[in-house]
Amino acid sequence: MENYLYCTYCKGTTARQDQVTALSLDIEGTSSIEEAFLRYFEAEVLDGNNLYLCQYCLGRRKTIKGVSIVQLPFIATIGIKRFVFNFEDMKIEKLYHKVVFHEIIDMNQFMVNGKIYSEDDTEAFSNAPSAMEKREQLKRRFLLNGPYVYELYCIIAHQGRADAGNYCAFIKCLKTKRWLQFDTMVSLATPQLILSTLGGTNQDPSAVCLYYRQLGESPQHNKIPISI
Ligand SMILES: [Zn+2]
Repeated sequence: MENYLYCTYCKGTTARQDQVTALSLDIEGTSSIEEAFLRYFEAEVLDGNNLYLCQYCLGRRKTIKGVSIVQLPFIATIGIKRFVFNFEDMKIEKLYHKVVFHEIIDMNQFMVNGKIYSEDDTEAFSNAPSAMEKREQLKRRFLLNGPYVYELYCIIAHQGRADAGNYCAFIKCLKTKRWLQFDTMVSLATPQLILSTLGGTNQDPSAVCLYYRQLGESPQHNKIPISI
């Protein structure tokens, strides 16, 4: 990831690259991961009392501050910030609203404009043959745009309030496409249960972290099995 500062006066740019293992998205006021990503990459204008001291022209200037992605990883980890601090009540609150995410995402334009492309699926999270075939078609179509096509394979979810609750994991076997729930016991997870991780009510086991895996072979140095 690259953090940059762009001086609007002399056009000088300062950039610093950092290796990050996960991106944490603010979701307040957003209804999907795609939308939250667009907000994440929105550049901020430092102006007024926030003028930035430019190291090139040595003046306090109006500056554009932002982040961009330089390289995408094989495993993309996306944090969903459902816990926020409420400064009025001075306590941590949980956001219960629905935040849509998809199983197959096209990140080929992500490094250019921060956009993720996906498609609504009426049979989402199902391993029925028709649903699986539809997803395979979608993968093939997205792969025409480039190699950065990802498949969701793990969801960490939290059920309960901010101060009390339970974490569990949903993991998809990429071979059988079956979703399993890992809680106190391991059990098969229905598409309806996985859909409830999108959130919407205070009863849902809402997703707080998503793991996507790039389609194709894992890199030699990082062999990760596809079946569980
Ligand atoms: Zn400058």
